[in-house]
Amino acid sequence: MTSLSNHDIIELTAWRRTLHTMPEVSGEEVETAREVVRFLKETGPDAIVENLGGTGVAVIYDSGVPGPSVMIRAELDALPIEELGEPEYRSKIAGKSHMCGHDGHMATLAGVGRALGRERPKTGRAILLFQPAEENGAGAAAVIADDKFDALTPDFSLSLHNMPGVRFGHVWLKDGPANCASRGMKIVLTGKTAHAAYPETGTSPVSAVAQLMPALNALSVGTVSEGNLVRATVTHASIGEPTVGVAPGHGEIWVTLRTSTDDQMAALVDKAETMAREAAEANGLVLSVDYQDVFGHCVNDPEAATILRTAMDAESVTYEPGEGFRASEDFGRFGAVSKSAMLFLGAGENHPAPHNPNYDFPDDLIPIGSRIFLRAIRNTLG
Ligand SMILES: [Zn+2]
Ligand SMILES: [Zn+2]
Repeated sequence: MTSLSNHDIIELTAWRRTLHTMPEVSGEEVETAREVVRFLKETGPDAIVENLGGTGVAVIYDSGVPGPSVMIRAELDALPIEELGEPEYRSKIAGKSHMCGHDGHMATLAGVGRALGRERPKTGRAILLFQPAEENGAGAAAVIADDKFDALTPDFSLSLHNMPGVRFGHVWLKDGPANCASRGMKIVLTGKTAHAAYPETGTSPVSAVAQLMPALNALSVGTVSEGNLVRATVTHASIGEPTVGVAPGHGEIWVTLRTSTDDQMAALVDKAETMAREAAEANGLVLSVDYQDVFGHCVNDPEAATILRTAMDAESVTYEPGEGFRASEDFGRFGAVSKSAMLFLGAGENHPAPHNPNYDFPDDLIPIGSRIFLRAIRNTLG
C-alpha cells in the first residue's frame, strides 16, 4: 500500500503552516479554497468540484469500478480571534486565526490525496471534502443542499477533530452521540416604557427577566458521557436603557441550548419556549424568540465507527470510547445522508484548547490522521 514518505510529511507540514498564515472566517474561505484546489490538483485526482455550498471543494479519486463511495471531510474556515502565539508562520490577517486546527485537518486530507493520487482505490471512489463554514454551523447543510453534491453523496462519511486534553496521538471514538446539538436562543420581551415616577403606567420586563434567567439555567441536567446532557446557559441579558429616568419597556435574554441528541434538543426548546411564553403572559409582555448558530447532533454510526477502529488497529493507533464532546460540530449533518463517524485525535494533555488565542495545530498529527483515513479507504474500497 502506497503511503506517505518523509518528504511528503515535510511538504504537508509546510503547507499546513502556509494555510495558518492566511485564515478566513466562515463563508469567506475564497483564498483558502483556491489554495486547496492548487495543492490537491498536483496529486492528480480524477475530478475536482468547486463552489460546493459556497466555497467548498470536493476532490475525487475514482477507481472506475462500481463500488462504495467513502468521503473524508475537513473544514476550510478559521476564527475571528487574534492569534497570541508567535510562531514564524503566525496569522498575517489581523483579528483572524486558525485556532481550531482546521489548517491541520486540511493538511491531513491532502496527505490522503497524495497517496490516492499515486494509487487509486480498486473499487468505488474516495472523496476528499473541504467544507466551508463549520464554525457557524451553516457549511455542511449548505454542501448537502447544493445540487452538485447529489452526484457525490457518499455511502460513508468520516472525519476527525484534533482534541487537546487527550494524550497525543491517542483517539477517542464512540458509537452513538459524539458531539452535541446546540443553538443560540434569543428571547425578546416587549412591554411599554414609562416615566420612572409613574412605572405603573408602563409594562416592564424586569420581573420576567429576573425570573427567567435562573429558571432557564436550572433546566440543565445530565452528562455528555451518558449521552443525556441538557444544558441551558444564559450568556447575555439586558433591560431598558442605561438611564434612571425611564422604566424599561424592553428586555432580552440570550441563552445557549445544548443537548446530546436532536430529540433532547426538541424537548429543551419546547420547555424553554413554554417558560418564556408563561413569563411574558403573566407580565403582559409580547414575546418573540429566534435562533442562531443551529447545530444538529453528531451521532456516530456503528458500522462507520468500526471502519475507523479497524483502520486504527492496523496502524497501531490506540483508542478508547472517551467521553464525547460538549461542543458542536456540523459534520453530524452528513449522518442524515450517509453512515458517518468522527474521531477525536489527541493533541496532548497540556495542549491549549481549541479557540484559545494561543492554540496551534500540532503538525505531528498530520501523518497519524492521514494513515488512519488512508487505511480506512483501502480496507473499504481495496
Ligand atoms: Zn473545529
Ligand atoms: Zn472550532
